[in-house]
Amino acid sequence: MGYKIVIALGGNALGNSPEEQKIAVKKTAKSLVSLVESGNKIIVGHGNGPQVGMINLAMEKGHKVDDSIPKMPFPECGAMSQGYIGYHLQNAIRHEFKQINRDVPVVTIITQVLVDKNDRAFENPTKPIGAFYTKEEAEKISKESNYEFKEDAGRGYRRVVASPKPIDIVEKESLKDLYDARNVIIACGGGGIPVVEENGEYIGVAAVIDKDFSCAKMAELMDADVLVILTAVEKVAINFGKENEKWLSEMTIDECQTYIEEGHFAPGSMLPKVEAAMSFVKSKPERKALITSLESADEALAGKTGTWIK
Ligand code: ADP
Ligand code: MG
Repeated sequence: MGYKIVIALGGNALGNSPEEQKIAVKKTAKSLVSLVESGNKIIVGHGNGPQVGMINLAMEKGHKVDDSIPKMPFPECGAMSQGYIGYHLQNAIRHEFKQINRDVPVVTIITQVLVDKNDRAFENPTKPIGAFYTKEEAEKISKESNYEFKEDAGRGYRRVVASPKPIDIVEKESLKDLYDARNVIIACGGGGIPVVEENGEYIGVAAVIDKDFSCAKMAELMDADVLVILTAVEKVAINFGKENEKWLSEMTIDECQTYIEEGHFAPGSMLPKVEAAMSFVKSKPERKALITSLESADEALAGKTGTWIK
């Protein structure tokens, strides 16, 4: 075997609080290191939904009660989440390598991901972030800032941001150099900090790039063999959760497209994974993608389980 793989870690690889995360990353690190032991070379990306949500909420609430606590822009919150998630992951992965007497450098890169300021997603922000507000509070804040608010499932008003598609990774040259110097790299955390280019400068924007799409882009730019999306399920299903549920071992691009049109993949969970897998597989003939669970990653890469997209 021996693939060059980009791994997208889902929420279950990290847990929901810093304490939970410190425990969860131990198990995650074990799985990742075992993939390297099986002869693969890995580059790791991950989500940050609960983590960036927590930081953003804390900063908003802090500022509300004490204005010596500054307003923290959303891209900065994303950078903070990349930092502490990366810290936990790199610490745990390095430790896991040490257990088997392997001295592998592990590093986290604060990653900026370029998006198009004309991306249609900016016209219709869909991702709720931060605290809940009353209608009046939301209207007041939205007048003072250019924030957009939407009612969130009867629970109150929340700020919504766009979810644009990744175009490029600003730090890609550094990623390549570090990879060539045999580092295990953690990058594109939370889908990366979204930036737009203005007069040759990168400016952070309040948006959330789906980590599955960013990892697909990273796999493409790093010229990986396989994009591995690790989540809570061992395989992808059609008729998911229904009586006639069927777990799939393989999908072609055409089958993916048909199943998407038939509505088999939930938006916001499985749909972006299948779409990300498709975009990577389509980018060059020999490229493949795999969707499976953290626990099954090794077996799946050996062709024994998981859903392969070819
Ligand atoms: P992550 O944090 O890994 O991105 P998500 O919760 O966003 O995880 O997406 C994975 C979830 O998608 C699975 O745990 C499963 O409940 C759900 N899901 C929706 N549609 C399907 C499907 N067709 N096949 C398998 N899982 C599906
Ligand atoms: Mg998800």
